[in-house]
Amino acid sequence: MLETLREPLETGAITISRAAWQTDFPAACQLVAAMNPCPCGWRGDPSGRCRCTPEAAARYRRKLSGPLLDRIDIQIEIPALPPVEIASRASAPGESSAAIAARVAVARERQIARQGKTNRELSGRETDEVCHPDAAGEALLREAGERFGWSARAYYRALKVARTIADLAGASTPEAAHVAEAVQYRRVFSDQ
Ligand SMILES: [Zn+2]
Repeated sequence: MLETLREPLETGAITISRAAWQTDFPAACQLVAAMNPCPCGWRGDPSGRCRCTPEAAARYRRKLSGPLLDRIDIQIEIPALPPVEIASRASAPGESSAAIAARVAVARERQIARQGKTNRELSGRETDEVCHPDAAGEALLREAGERFGWSARAYYRALKVARTIADLAGASTPEAAHVAEAVQYRRVFSDQ
């Protein structure tokens, strides 16, 4: 069932086929999903409450196929916050959503001005032209791709994320720091 998400995540459209007809529907979406790290949900918690075997945890994570994970650009682990920290954060809020939205709007305008579309919509060839990092960034990306066994799709998606991080920073070319951040967003499922 999850695997049916692959088509809209890749093409922004979904094809419905019946005996007599076939039609495409627009399905561009922003997928936000969450999962537990293991069947009981406590894996990695300092309390040591998780009793799952490493095999059980690995089997649980394998429910997400490589091809589906390839299409999810940002994958991060979020540890549970201790209650005392939740309380202190509530009283000292960080940057406002409005300020972040303004920064995102500027980065988006930068993409449209440069290439007439967002980074997400770039084809493979356009990605090569527009997202090319500097020499240090390129070396870093190649090394990460080899170490984590990335597919071509994962490689290009990381490249687009690095380009987007550079756009948010106002940099004309993705640099090593932008590439390193993009690599970090694709590591959770790479280390097993
Ligand atoms: Zn567990």
